[in-house]
Amino acid sequence: MGPPGAGKGTQASTIAAHFGIPAISTGDIFRANVSKGTELGIEAKRYMDAGEYVPDDVTNRMVRNRIDEPDATPGFLLDGYPRTLAQVEELDGMIGFTGHSLDAVVVLTVNPEELVQRLLERAKTEGRADDTEDVIRRRQEIYAEQTEPLIEVYRERGALIEVDGLGEIDEVTERIFAALATVHQS
Ligand code: AMP
Repeated sequence: MGPPGAGKGTQASTIAAHFGIPAISTGDIFRANVSKGTELGIEAKRYMDAGEYVPDDVTNRMVRNRIDEPDATPGFLLDGYPRTLAQVEELDGMIGFTGHSLDAVVVLTVNPEELVQRLLERAKTEGRADDTEDVIRRRQEIYAEQTEPLIEVYRERGALIEVDGLGEIDEVTERIFAALATVHQS
């Protein structure tokens, strides 16, 4: 978890590769569907372009299908999911059903103004449709309203790992691995 621009995608790929499990990014799956012009993509695009969350039922169904794929059997890392309380409940149900358990929830913390600057920079290089300044600010707002409350939920469950997301990519990766190592020892 972490606000938009905190570097979730980059770190997720590295962590997943280390553990030999797939990194499942809901944002990437939505974007792939948008590019292919699927029904899901057409539905998701209106929300994504506005910086809003795609409705829970659509997102949940997509994640359920994805974690049913054989490569997710040994385990998986979710990037950008869950983002709402309803998604937390849904995920609990899904992994209860598949027999997986939640090892850790990693939150990358970064100062919001720093993030807006990072995202504006990324907009120049990647040209994502959801990287205009208004949309960037809207995405931060939605994160604060809908996703930040999940941090307390996972803290209460003792699953939370908070990592300072500021700094070089490799430094942040090292912090994450160091924090994850303590979880697996305990
Ligand atoms: P991301 O690349 O993770 O920032 O996701 C890009 C966009 O996809 C978000 O701004 C949302 O519109 C949508 N999205 C990704 N994950 C979710 C989710 N778990 N719930 C709802 N919408 C999502």
